[in-house]
Order: sequence, then C-alpha cells, then structure tokens
Amino acid sequence: MSKPIVAIVGRPNVGKSTLFNALAGEKISIVKDTPGVTRDRIYADISWLDYQFTMIDTGGIEPDTGDMMLSHMRDQAEIAIETADVIIFLTDVRQGLVDADYQVADMLRRSQKPVVLAVNKVDNYEKFIMDTYEFYNLGLGTPFPVSANSKLGFGDLLDEVIANCNPETLKEEEDERPRVAIIGKPNAGKSSMINKMLGEDRLIVSDVAGTTRDAIDTVIRRGDKEYVFIDTAGLRRKSRIKEDLERYSVIRTVAAVERCDVAILVIDAEEGITEQDAKIAGIAHERGKGMIIAVNKWDLVEKNDKTIYKYTNKIREVLSFMSYAELVFVSAKTGQRFQKIFDLLDVVIENHALRVQTGVLNEILAEAVAMKQPPSDKGKRLKLYYMTQVSVKPPTFVVFVNDKKLTHFSYTRYLENQIRNTFGFRGTPIRIYTRERK
Ligand code: GDP
Ligand code: GDP
Repeated sequence: MSKPIVAIVGRPNVGKSTLFNALAGEKISIVKDTPGVTRDRIYADISWLDYQFTMIDTGGIEPDTGDMMLSHMRDQAEIAIETADVIIFLTDVRQGLVDADYQVADMLRRSQKPVVLAVNKVDNYEKFIMDTYEFYNLGLGTPFPVSANSKLGFGDLLDEVIANCNPETLKEEEDERPRVAIIGKPNAGKSSMINKMLGEDRLIVSDVAGTTRDAIDTVIRRGDKEYVFIDTAGLRRKSRIKEDLERYSVIRTVAAVERCDVAILVIDAEEGITEQDAKIAGIAHERGKGMIIAVNKWDLVEKNDKTIYKYTNKIREVLSFMSYAELVFVSAKTGQRFQKIFDLLDVVIENHALRVQTGVLNEILAEAVAMKQPPSDKGKRLKLYYMTQVSVKPPTFVVFVNDKKLTHFSYTRYLENQIRNTFGFRGTPIRIYTRERK
C-alpha cells in the first residue's frame, strides 16, 4: 500500500531538522547495507499508532535573510505541495510571526493541500501558550504547540496529521494497472526513455485522476496491457542552489517510488555507475519495490566482447544489496532492447505480487533445514517450525522459530536463496521475518 507523504516546511532555524529527527528517532528505517539511507536524513518512515507515513524534510542549505530566503522558502513550499499529501508548516514562537511566514502560508493555502500548523519551541506550555494564539492570523487553522527539543506536543500534532491523511489518497490502489517509476540521476535519459516508449507504441497520455498529488502520470499501452508511468523527470522550477536541486530530486524520487510497484533505475552508460545511483537504488530497495536496472546510452559505448561482462560486474558490485535486480542494456536513442524492458517489466510485476502456497514453502523449509543445520548458541539450537507468506509487494514471509535470539542473518539469507532457487522471484526483493512460537 502506498504510504502518505508528509512534508515539513518552514523558515530557517524554526526547528525543522530537530523536529524531523525527533519524530524519526530510532524509527528511521535502516535496511542493512543500503547506501545513503542513514547519512542524509531527507526522508524517514514513521509509525504512529497504527499508521505509517513517510516524512520528508524539505529544508537543506538555507540562506536566512532577504530575498534569497524567500525564494528558497517558495521552492520548499512548492516541492512540498508537489509531492506531499499533508504539509506540516512549522513556525517559531520565540521569533514570532514574520512576513515570510505569511507569504508561505498564502502559497500553502492556495494549494488546497491539507496543512497542519505547528508552533515550535513551546518548551514551557504555561509560559508560551498565549503567544501561540497570534498564529491563528496565518489563516491555517489551529496552531499546534510543540517543542522539538523536549519532544512535547507530538501526540496531538501526529493525530492531526493522520486525520488529514485523506483515505482518498490511497484510492489509486484500486487502479489495477501496474505502476512504474523511472528513476535516476538528471540526464541519465529518463525522459528520453519515456518518450521512446510512447513513440513506438501508440499510447495514451493522460492525467490519472483520483490522486491528490500533482504528479502527471503517463499511461502506456502494449497490446492489451496498460502500465502507468510515474513522472520524476520534470524539474519544473529550477532552484538557485545546487544542494537544493539534489535534495529535491531525492524527494521526488521518494514520492514516485512510494507510489510504484516497479522502479526502473536508469544509469548513464557513459558515466558508469556512481554513488548517487546507489543511493537512488537504495530508496527503491528500502521500500520493497521491484527493480530493473536499465543501463542507457548503450549506443555511445565502444564495445568488445567483454564490455557487457565488465559493466555487469561493476554494477553488481556497487549494488550488491540488490542482487535480485534485473539488468538490461538499452538505448533510448535507437530503441535497442525496448521490447526486452517490457518483457522484464511483466516478469517483475508478476514476481512482486507472487504468492507461494504454505505447503510448498514448508517442503522447502524442511529440505533447507535438512541440508544445512541451523545455528546454535550455548548448546541450544535454532528450530524452524513453520513458514508462511504473509503478504505480497514485496513477497514477505514469516518463519516461526523456538528462539529469535538464535537466528542469524546468514541463515536467513540461506533461506532466501533456497526460496529463490525454487521460485526465482527475479526482480523483486523478498522479506523474511522470524517470530517466536514456544
Ligand atoms: P531548521 O533550520 O528549521 O532545520 O532548524 P533546526 O532544527 O536546525 O533548529 C534551529 C535551532 O533551534 C537549533 O539551535 C535548535 O536547537 C533550536 N530548537 C529546535 N527546536 C527547539 C525547541 O523546541 N525549543 C528550543 N528552545 N529550541 C529549539
Ligand atoms: P533525464 O534528465 O534523465 O530525463 O535525461 P534526458 O532524457 O533529458 O536525456 C539527457 C540527454 O541524454 C539528452 O541530451 C538526451 O538526448 C541524451 N540521451 C538520452 N538517452 C540517450 C541514449 O540512449 N543515447 C544517446 N546517445 N543519448 C541519449
């Protein structure tokens, strides 16, 4: 299910990063070996009660005075409006209301996105609560007092955020058509690929209704099948600051990946695979999406009989955390292997939603255990009783064991390999959790 996206917007120094970090806390999802995830905290998965959402921090390098600040805030607000389902507009009770707050409030109000107004640095409720009333003047409804430093007021704030997560947002889930996000660095050839796909296969281009997001989706039809392609390519407004551009491109990637079933990561063959590509791939991996790596501009590469082999090795090495990903060498210019892209898409879409029967799974489990003894500690051996698939997209399994402490990731990986040996699951991550049953 696609999770709502919540963005934090506000002037420099009101406490956006502090709030983001406090809310994300230890809950920032860290998948082992995924690059980039821990280093720049631009987004985080948050759970509150039974709800889950993805939070993004739109703030980056921030000039704190004058025209630059205002233009920066407009960029921030715009990216939030473009990508988020709910926006937290953060202000500062100690600095009070300033002109820039009104201007951003105007933009947010006009966007008609749900906005939750929070007033930060209310470290002492009695002392500051009177001062928060001034913020009603922004015309964004009730201000929620919080203290990011002291972690106060989070409950009411998050309740309000959840209340504003319109269930309609998730309506697109009813759309049966597979959703594909084309992701990758600027200039890798994302737009060219979409255009080529459109050009070759009489297609329909349309806005997909039923989403509160502004993204423009493209529907591509092949034979009797339709695919919804989610746009990340368009940087509609150029920021003046390079770091912001990068940040915004990460935010757009997160937003697109959140909504997709399968991501196609476009790599520029001329440049080869880079750290930035790995970070982008990490976003899709973390979110459990199907994955195809398209090495584009293959027409520009001088080749001999070892070239594909060398590229494959290098990519597999850098993206070692997603050995399941499908790999294809293409040219958006000539259309080379575009048929194969669609063939792979069909395979990955199917695998991502594949369900395996419990009976068959347990035959595999029994065989796996017989072939390789489970780990033990201080004379106590791990027992694996039973395995079942609990969900799809991505395929997720639960193994019931005698003692979770005895599990070891190398044994879980071994189980994953056994499952893959039988069912393939090419192109999709799979997840295996252990649960105790005494
Ligand atoms: P950002 O620029 O909006 O991301 O703001 P930061 O998160 O970097 O915070 C700016 C400053 O405000 C830092 O010195 C924080 O320690 C301080 N700050 C953040 N939250 C609170 C709070 O709840 N109370 C107080 N007193 N200071 C805070
Ligand atoms: P995006 O920023 O990822 O959407 O990248 P674009 O689709 O705008 O492509 C960036 C540049 O690379 C453009 O000048 C394209 O013409 C060029 N380009 C894209 N794909 C190919 C390809 O397969 N071969 C060649 N030779 N050039 C390509």
